[in-house]
Amino acid sequence: MSAAAVQIVGARKSFGGKKVLQGIDLTIAQGTVTVILGPSGSGKSTLLRAVNHLEKLDEGYVVVDGELIGVRLVGERLKELHEKQILTQRARIGFVFQNFNLFPHLTVLENIIEAPVSTGLLAKAPARERAYELLAQIGLSDKADAFPRQLSGGQQQRVAIARALALDPQLILFDEPTSALDPELVGEVLTVIRRLAESGRTLVVVTHEIGFAREVADHVVFLDDGVIVEQGAPGDVLVNPSHARTRDFLSRVL
Ligand code: ADP
Ligand code: MG
Repeated sequence: MSAAAVQIVGARKSFGGKKVLQGIDLTIAQGTVTVILGPSGSGKSTLLRAVNHLEKLDEGYVVVDGELIGVRLVGERLKELHEKQILTQRARIGFVFQNFNLFPHLTVLENIIEAPVSTGLLAKAPARERAYELLAQIGLSDKADAFPRQLSGGQQQRVAIARALALDPQLILFDEPTSALDPELVGEVLTVIRRLAESGRTLVVVTHEIGFAREVADHVVFLDDGVIVEQGAPGDVLVNPSHARTRDFLSRVL
């Protein structure tokens, strides 16, 4: 087995007494595509956000590329990272949200160059050059100067993916990237993600698109009520699930 890109160990999280993650252990191999499925409220977003330190775990920890997220081992003790160190960690992980989260007052090009320029990783000229390359890859070269509101949902989500790629992350997390789209726009976004899957990056995708999962995923995880009920190859979990809860869920989304 190849090296782990992400290791989640004993993850627990509650919100106001409600146990949302109830002890999650999950290893994600480098260069693979993992699809996370589960009913609404099962903890999928919370789990994904913990990997990016948008959510702090109550117990357990996350390791990305050999580095603890949010904390650092100092001698025998875990020391919380400062905000600036967290931003550095986060910059190495791409995150694509259900509702795109583009900056509405910035053009498409400005959205894409914002992170590399503001973090000082790239000067403006090379950042623009890279942005144009990314726009070409997602088929939106002619939209560089448009504002998000002038684009369709599918186009906005493709821009959001380009923005996530601007820092060239080796790990990209997608939280229901097509759930907010009209059905006819889902395909164009899945096509971009499918192409990314061939680029050797590690992708973690929360989605209800079972067809996509069957075709693209190396590993499928079914989450329910804050626990992993079942995980494995798509041919097993999606075609021949061993748990009633998985079967029940699949019969409802298919
Ligand atoms: P999913 O993405 O699987 O739909 P979430 O991880 O978003 O599930 O949420 C799991 C549960 O945690 C839900 O009941 C949700 O209401 C609750 N929850 C999530 N985030 C917060 C928060 N910031 N404050 C309070 N409750 C939250
Ligand atoms: Mg969610």
